[in-house]
Amino acid sequence: MAETSAPSVAAEGTEHVDFDVEGMTCAACATRVERALNNVPGVIEARVNLALERADVVFERELLALEHLTDAVDRAGYHARPAAAASVRQVQDQARLDSERRTLVVSATLTAPLLIGMGLNTLGYEDLHVMPVGEVLLATPIQFLIGLRFYRGAFNALRTGAANMDVLVALGTTAAYCYSWYLLRTLGEEADGRLYFEASAVIITLVLLGKHMENRAKRGAAAALQALLALRPDTGCMLRADGTEVEVPAEQLRQGDLVLVRPGGRVPVDGKVVEGASEVDESLVSGESVPVPKRAGDTVTGGSVNGFGLLKVRTTTVGEASTLARIARLVADAQAGKASVQRLVDRVSAIFVPSVLAFSALTFIAWLVVSGNFEQALIAAVAVLVIACPCALGLATPTAILTGTGAAAQAGILIRDIEVLEQAHRIDAIVFDKTGTLTEGRPRVLAVHGTRGDPEATLRWAAAVQQGSEHPLAKAILAHAVERNLALEPVRSFQAVPGRGAEGSVAGRHVAVGNGGFIGERTPVDADMQALARQREAAGETVVFVAADDELLGVITLADPPRSNAAQAVQMLQALHVSPTLLSGDAPGVAERIGRELGLPAHGGMSPEAKARAVQELASAGKVVGMVGDGVNDAPALAAADVGIAMGSGTDIAMAAAGVTLMRPDPRLVAGAVAASRATFRKIRQNLFWAFIYNVVCIPLAAIGYLSPTLAAAAMALSSVSVVCNSLLLRGWRPNLAAQNA
Ligand code: ADP
Ligand code: MG
Repeated sequence: MAETSAPSVAAEGTEHVDFDVEGMTCAACATRVERALNNVPGVIEARVNLALERADVVFERELLALEHLTDAVDRAGYHARPAAAASVRQVQDQARLDSERRTLVVSATLTAPLLIGMGLNTLGYEDLHVMPVGEVLLATPIQFLIGLRFYRGAFNALRTGAANMDVLVALGTTAAYCYSWYLLRTLGEEADGRLYFEASAVIITLVLLGKHMENRAKRGAAAALQALLALRPDTGCMLRADGTEVEVPAEQLRQGDLVLVRPGGRVPVDGKVVEGASEVDESLVSGESVPVPKRAGDTVTGGSVNGFGLLKVRTTTVGEASTLARIARLVADAQAGKASVQRLVDRVSAIFVPSVLAFSALTFIAWLVVSGNFEQALIAAVAVLVIACPCALGLATPTAILTGTGAAAQAGILIRDIEVLEQAHRIDAIVFDKTGTLTEGRPRVLAVHGTRGDPEATLRWAAAVQQGSEHPLAKAILAHAVERNLALEPVRSFQAVPGRGAEGSVAGRHVAVGNGGFIGERTPVDADMQALARQREAAGETVVFVAADDELLGVITLADPPRSNAAQAVQMLQALHVSPTLLSGDAPGVAERIGRELGLPAHGGMSPEAKARAVQELASAGKVVGMVGDGVNDAPALAAADVGIAMGSGTDIAMAAAGVTLMRPDPRLVAGAVAASRATFRKIRQNLFWAFIYNVVCIPLAAIGYLSPTLAAAAMALSSVSVVCNSLLLRGWRPNLAAQNA
């Protein structure tokens, strides 16, 4: 959801812009707008989302101006303007819903006497109904004033050589209306009781009712995202250099500004705490409602709620670059895409309306030939036109995706796009990296052993090399050295060997740290050290060997305990019939130990390439594989997987890189992501089933004359409303994180 209407810059020379599109009533309309935009020279890609009533266009900046795009949409019979900010859009939507409701009330009031008259008539109270003149007076404004929108829509569609739902409604109601007029003119008072004015009126009223309920429900579906954005505070309390405080609009805050966050207040920007201590509720970004302690040096995210402490925060990112804005953008982009099922549905609905028109004509002719009764033939044909409106079909997929991805985002699961969602619901194997995903990822040094009984020298050399490394083990070793106040020499020509170790030159010596295999290639490891390493590894500890100039200096043992909910995550996946596997670059003994503890198969000693190969093997065995990794040295395996899953911690999330981003480091959310995508696709299938079944059952019924036009209108309205309501049920979806008794 673009917060501003200004186009944002996409790739070199191209521009990206969102439009609000008015007047689309069904999937056929969305397809037409999309085609019109794609046909404008200079447009690279245009996508239209019916549920969001939004078009999303990438075009070449040199070649065209925004007016070319809006003109193209206007020529296709719709109206487009640059997307309004979320808050403006909300007001506009509300105004539109209000006006729809007023029209509906008028329409229903005029229709009611007609309907009551018809009811009494069928019950035998023939004297009590509305006289023919009264029928004309009631039905005419409905047909031509309230129903004007259908004529307009139909005219626009036909002008561009296409047909849509408006054509069906306009044609059906006009036929019933005109035939009633004809009867009235030819039979005069005799026509009393045989007129179909009420059928036209009821069809128009019910189609309006269906649309209104649908629009209300669609707004509900988009609400998750709006709720996210609405929580962004509008103002922040800025601390001036002279120590005075001013309340300024959040968008005026710049990087480096000092901001005061009071107890209970919302953090207005992303930033770093410089003073104070508190607990902060970050559920908005991470889905996690347990408050996170914050003190000087910690990062905070805009939109999170401060607890009882006073925090002084230095702003780091603002505006479109802020975490919340990026999340919102990501979710909106995902929702704007089109599932491949949807593309199929679009193709079907493009030929659906013309087919219905043909079938309706066929019905008319067949009745005329078989029974010779013009009236029966006309009424059956009208019923076919009305029942067959494909609006439920057009809403089935987008509404489910909207609610599904929205609910997942609120639970802290970000799904990049529809393709990912489609892949994710098929996942039946998950590969976990060990460090940082199933384990805490904050290893601690347990012991340092020196070959010549000098542990401190071992630690000093190792820590010196590790200054160049970002690896969690490196950080742990460094921290351990700093705690001991060891002075470290700088490292030169540092080289990391992913999944194995690191080396560099320190004070003229060539120092290497890493696993047994890595060091074993450089220097022999004596039996004592071998035995020690085996023993520690079997206990689940990570052993890092340290060598200098091809001489083994000693080993450092570290512990990285499994995350408290890792075992539950494994069980949750198994309950979903997804087989989890642990692949680690750590020693086989460590991997096996953790695997046993958590209850999943585990393989150690794997290089990043070996991990990628293992993922490919799973894939060629017919599995759809999800890979959970830290994204740094697991990049090859992440790329080889069908779905890459990144587990974020706080704000340093590589959101764009992975297909799925988990907003907090909780492995249970991996199962949550699979469950969310499955729930969404289950909804899509249900919706498509309901949309089709109405047509499959009702069109033949209408054709053989069992479904009056009035009933057909009711069934049609019900079908769209039921599809949208079914999708709305997904709004309450949350991953089931309740502990199962293991
Ligand atoms: P995992 O698969 O568990 O995430 P990695 O692939 O990141 O593990 O690393 C695998 C192994 O390589 C580690 O267990 C360690 O033995 C060794 N290693 C990698 N980088 C370093 C480093 N900077 N310092 C010491 N050992 C390292
Ligand atoms: Mg790793």
